[in-house]
Amino acid sequence: MTHFGKDTHGERSHTCGSLTLAEVGKTVTLKGWVDTRRDLGGVIFIDLRDRFGLTQVVFSPQDNQTAHAAAEALRSEFVVSVQGVVQERDAENVNPKLPTGQIEIRVHDLIILNASDPVPFSLSAHEEKSGKVNEELRLRYRYLDMRRLGLQQNLILRHKLYQITRRHFSDNDFVEVETPVLMKSTPEGARDYLVPSRVHPGHFFALPQSPQTYKQILMVAGMDRYFQITKCFRDEDLRADRQPEFTQIDVEMTFATEASVQRIIEGLMVKVWQELKGVTLQTPFRRMTYDAAIRTYGVDKPDLRFGLPLFDLSTAFNGSPFRIFNQVLENKGAIVGILVPGESERGRAWLDKMDKDVARKKLGAAGLIYFKWQQDNTIYSSIKAEVLPTEFVKKGLEAIGAQKGDLVFILAGPQPKVFEQMGGLRLALANELNLIPDGEAWEFLWVTDFPLVERDPNSTEDRWYAMHHPFTSPNPDDLPLMKTDPGKVRARAYDIVLNGFEIGGGSIRIHNREVQQQMFELLGIDAEEAQARFGFLLDAFRFGAPPHGGVALGLDRMVMLLTGSPSLRDVIAFPKTASAQELMVQSPDSVDDHQLEELHIRIVMPESKK
Ligand code: ASP
Repeated sequence: MTHFGKDTHGERSHTCGSLTLAEVGKTVTLKGWVDTRRDLGGVIFIDLRDRFGLTQVVFSPQDNQTAHAAAEALRSEFVVSVQGVVQERDAENVNPKLPTGQIEIRVHDLIILNASDPVPFSLSAHEEKSGKVNEELRLRYRYLDMRRLGLQQNLILRHKLYQITRRHFSDNDFVEVETPVLMKSTPEGARDYLVPSRVHPGHFFALPQSPQTYKQILMVAGMDRYFQITKCFRDEDLRADRQPEFTQIDVEMTFATEASVQRIIEGLMVKVWQELKGVTLQTPFRRMTYDAAIRTYGVDKPDLRFGLPLFDLSTAFNGSPFRIFNQVLENKGAIVGILVPGESERGRAWLDKMDKDVARKKLGAAGLIYFKWQQDNTIYSSIKAEVLPTEFVKKGLEAIGAQKGDLVFILAGPQPKVFEQMGGLRLALANELNLIPDGEAWEFLWVTDFPLVERDPNSTEDRWYAMHHPFTSPNPDDLPLMKTDPGKVRARAYDIVLNGFEIGGGSIRIHNREVQQQMFELLGIDAEEAQARFGFLLDAFRFGAPPHGGVALGLDRMVMLLTGSPSLRDVIAFPKTASAQELMVQSPDSVDDHQLEELHIRIVMPESKK
């Protein structure tokens, strides 16, 4: 019998992923969505789908005339309940890829619980190629997109990551404490999302860029060890791999050292990779100073799944007559090389592409120089011997450790920019030469000893910015430099890097009121402003604040890497687009005039939007 909407079957006896030969002969009740429907000479087959899997369901007039007739009406994504008997499939119909592939259900009763309009893209588990469907469409109909197995699997892995995280920290005496979402600005280097207060006209809450100040105050409060899986909000000009709201595993420890924080995080990673990937990670992870990372890989988050380190060849070319090299060296720049083993026979077209498309266009470098130590033992230099004599080319090749058959690329320019450009070339070469392992290689690394402060490269303002945030402790050995040479002060900060992605960062904090004030001064925050913005923290530091430190991990990014997803949007249930919109509910949205009135807010439209 077919009834629309009324379910007389009662609860399902099994999910669509659970039946095997063990249940043959049993009468079962299954519920789910019609994944596919095939009509084969009077017998109708459907694959019934739910989160747990697919089960083949058969409607034959021989089993039940009414059910078979009713099944004619079934279309993709109809929701149905079926009752029938589990039967072993004929040998030629067995599907070894499915856990339920050896059985099918011979239906004797069908209830259509709901119909479905034709869907805007196929959800069939048989065509799990999310990349092919336009992403805007997927985000607009996120509930359909999520009905597909790929996204569901990502969310299930994410769920498991929450469980492992909570267990790990709880087992290590950490307490999960929720911190406010309506709070005061916490500087993490982005713009705040603001929430106007109706009760206090002209006043705003800021959504947390992180719970940084709260977690430090929890240490002053004697909570000893804190963690939280929490949302953070940063209004940034979006890059492809950022989301305006994202999830952190946030951690803080009293009496912490760099080593104790890193050990706790390594312990978590070991459990996560063991339980979710079946991979045993070796600890301790590698360590590298920020300075070494920039000089050897050109970035503070090096991808260590392949080699191609950078070499500073400045000394080797010192004294050459080549004007460009000399100018760079006089201006305290550097001459940096990469050794590409075995590629000496590369032709002009490829080398020109690396120069024009990669070095110049993509990386903004002045021009790529190359030397080839060819198989016939001749040496080719892209700079003529009258300009750069062969003896210097040989010196360069020797300094970088080249051998016959090798290719060497060189860039010269100001520091640290030339290292960063070479780091970009290193990544481009890894892709060109297929050096990044296909399989699952996991190269973890702690980058340590970051500079405490930096100049904003995009600003002409003569001021310092905190490289992490203003609560990061300077290295006590460098305290005297705070006044004389702030750019040289090292921070007690560390990032954790995986396969070229920063997956977290943290620091040992300042817990002393005077040092904190000194830091604010360095950042151009005067005493009055410091009191207005962070008075609560400076006050707290007056009452026996213990030394403390912590870290925060980017949970979304971890799931992205664990699932091998190309985008953060594939691991978040309802993500925002690159222009910070959520397409399903269509937010952000305009609001009623009376709501604005209540909030004492008037909109002044920018000219461009009028
Ligand atoms: N609050 C920092 C961040 O969000 C992490 C930390 O220092 O613990 O990056």
